[in-house]
Amino acid sequence: MASVRLRAVRLSPAAHGANAANRSRMGRRRTTMASRTAETLNALRRTFVGKDRRNGRAGRGLVAVTLFTLLAYMTGIGIEPAHADDRCLAFSASLAGDAKQVKLVLDFDCKPDVAIHYVDKPRRILVDFSDTVLGFPEKSLVPTGLVTRLRAGAMGPHRARIVLQTDEPARAHLESVKANGGGAGYRATFDVTPVSASQFSDLLSSQNWREAETGGVDAAKGKTTSGNASAFTVVIDPGHGGIDGGAVGVDETAEKTVTLAFAKKLAADLGGHDLHVVLTRDDDTFVSLADRVKIARENDADLFVSIHADSISVKSLRGATVYTLSDNASDRLANQIAQSENRADAVAGLKVGSEPKAVAGILADLTRRETRRFSGRLSDSVISAFTGDVDLINNPQRHAGFRVLEAPDVPSVLVELGFLSNPDDEKQLIDPQWRAKVAGLMTKAILAYRDKVSPESR
Ligand SMILES: [Zn+2]
Repeated sequence: MASVRLRAVRLSPAAHGANAANRSRMGRRRTTMASRTAETLNALRRTFVGKDRRNGRAGRGLVAVTLFTLLAYMTGIGIEPAHADDRCLAFSASLAGDAKQVKLVLDFDCKPDVAIHYVDKPRRILVDFSDTVLGFPEKSLVPTGLVTRLRAGAMGPHRARIVLQTDEPARAHLESVKANGGGAGYRATFDVTPVSASQFSDLLSSQNWREAETGGVDAAKGKTTSGNASAFTVVIDPGHGGIDGGAVGVDETAEKTVTLAFAKKLAADLGGHDLHVVLTRDDDTFVSLADRVKIARENDADLFVSIHADSISVKSLRGATVYTLSDNASDRLANQIAQSENRADAVAGLKVGSEPKAVAGILADLTRRETRRFSGRLSDSVISAFTGDVDLINNPQRHAGFRVLEAPDVPSVLVELGFLSNPDDEKQLIDPQWRAKVAGLMTKAILAYRDKVSPESR
């Protein structure tokens, strides 16, 4: 779609350029257009940088208009766009082909830095871009031919990733990166073709990862929103983010958006009570499960609260649940939710290794047991604050093997605020007033817990 418009607009400057009398006027217009292009690009960047791309249909419509205006200016006038920051913007994308070959084509406003990796089970091709923001409409990349599933999104503030899943083994090859002409940035073309199973194994074993496979988080420090490290420390973990959108509501609400909005409100509330509050993410960024645990441990957290709003097949089920860690799931639902949460890293294309070896020894064992006891008290506290004011599912205290709750020395709970698969729950989850009410109750629960376990820090 974008390329058709591109060609249509390209015709006009040539016609103008032929007329010498028009040149000085063109010069003046060029300057005005240059600043307007910079403005438009900045508007586009504001739309994408640090914001959720799934903000709804109205948002996408606005993006389409802005994108079209930007393309018209860039291709028609032929100037280099000004940069609001140093990152590359991928402004258009397409995927086309069949079972024998698929072409992935992307347009950038600067020369992209590309790396291709492979992961197995299921087979995926990871196309990574350094210092890049993906700004093209989500719907422009649809699985086709060889490519059976596809995801695209941020892997951190400085990295974006496109994950191509194929049923048959396949490889991707960067065919070319060419200047688009007219100052309209660069076009990268990738060729995806089938390979044999043994060729795919060779690709897997011979590849070089340029960075640790933790999703690109340099230092697992988290984002402190208030207080100093010596105060009672609460780490709040908004579930999902970036390329991992989490569940999608009946009305297309993205779980990652709801969890972040709630976590920010909770952080603000807790900040008013002399606590040290840290968020595992404060924007639409991917953070691996291991890094979330690491953030809790490196901040010496007194407690860790992971926020979610999942989706399940039983649409009628609604209400909040508080989960704690255990080796055996309390029930089938708990097991199902834990398994889907634990897939978060795989969704982003991270290799999910075997479980980290538990530290052996009597002391480590005691610590873990103590931690689980405190996690249970935190869960009690949340449930008693919610009771009567927030809808709860039956048996709202459940447990299962959530990887994000595995810090051996930090009492941790995972709160499912409700189910995005239920229309009534979804309505509440997207309502800022409902979120504020629940954040207030959770603040009450956390303060009650602190006063019980650590009265001296009151
Ligand atoms: Zn979730």
